[in-house]
Amino acid sequence: MKIRLVTLDLDDTLWDPYSQLISAAELMRNWFAEHHPTLTGFLDDPEAQRQVRDAVIERSPELRTRLSSLRREVLKAGLKSAGYNPDEAQAAADAGFSVFYRARSSGLALFDGARELLRALSARGALGAVSNGNADLKLMNLMPPFDFCANPECAGVGKPDPEIFRYALDQAGCSADECVHIGDHPLYDVDGARGADIEPIWYNPGADPWRGEGPPPRTVTHLNQVLDALDRLEGEQR
Ligand SMILES: [Mg+2]
Repeated sequence: MKIRLVTLDLDDTLWDPYSQLISAAELMRNWFAEHHPTLTGFLDDPEAQRQVRDAVIERSPELRTRLSSLRREVLKAGLKSAGYNPDEAQAAADAGFSVFYRARSSGLALFDGARELLRALSARGALGAVSNGNADLKLMNLMPPFDFCANPECAGVGKPDPEIFRYALDQAGCSADECVHIGDHPLYDVDGARGADIEPIWYNPGADPWRGEGPPPRTVTHLNQVLDALDRLEGEQR
């Protein structure tokens, strides 16, 4: 096969998102404590936030996979129930969210070998991200090496829906048999790619047994094995 496009999952494939999310949420809470202190009760009450999130998703199911919009709507609803009018709530939610988002997108530590891999992949051909998260690759100075990012905000659906992979193919002007997708999640990344007829490579750093659907996929346990795996694929007939 001739590989013209490599797509990569982001969270848990190139970085650990959770430590960054926690510190970004903390920064946002401190910003609200300073500028809109009536919201801090809400931000310190996970159950209240969960209820509001559920209500927002019930009203607007499409937001379930649009994490940035969902987070903003939850803040807005919290501000409204704290007595803000809709315009004030919107403005404060947008400002608070941007504090969160900047913190979430900057200073993220990539896994060992990730930057070298991205550089090498971008030298080989088109390089895209296919992620259900809301990382801003421009803010993170990762565009380049990435050429584009497909996420639920722009593609309209998230993994494992094959449409998000087709959106990525369109971005690169490639067909499914010219693309390889690499990611850590058996359902989202392996099943999802297969659903769009794209060859998956499972990033499996824990060397876990395959418990997903279908035959075991090609597997790498470290990012430094990806280039060899791609070379082997290029040497094979599909
Ligand atoms: Mg992942």
